[in-house]
Amino acid sequence: MSRSSAAMAAPKEYFALTVALAKVEGCVPCRGRDEWHGDEPTTRARAADACWDCPLIRTCAAYADAANECHGVWGGQDRTRRTTTTTTWSPR
Ligand code: SF4
Repeated sequence: MSRSSAAMAAPKEYFALTVALAKVEGCVPCRGRDEWHGDEPTTRARAADACWDCPLIRTCAAYADAANECHGVWGGQDRTRRTTTTTTWSPR
């Protein structure tokens, strides 16, 4: 989700999260790291575990809930929605 669409999806929660991020000045585990939006579920699981050391976990989760985030790790949870492709075999 881009910043502008995130702000439109949940403006109050997005504002609260950006203000909180500015106040902690780089002390959040996800800052500058790609694992939170990695392709592998195991990578994202490790990232989600690291969120539990974050002082913003509640604010981050509140934003993700309000915005219905469905990509990556937010607030200690991997919110990536699984897409399944069902292939059915049928004899001709
Ligand atoms: S709780 Fe949110 S801000 Fe904190 S490390 Fe996790 S994703 Fe980043």
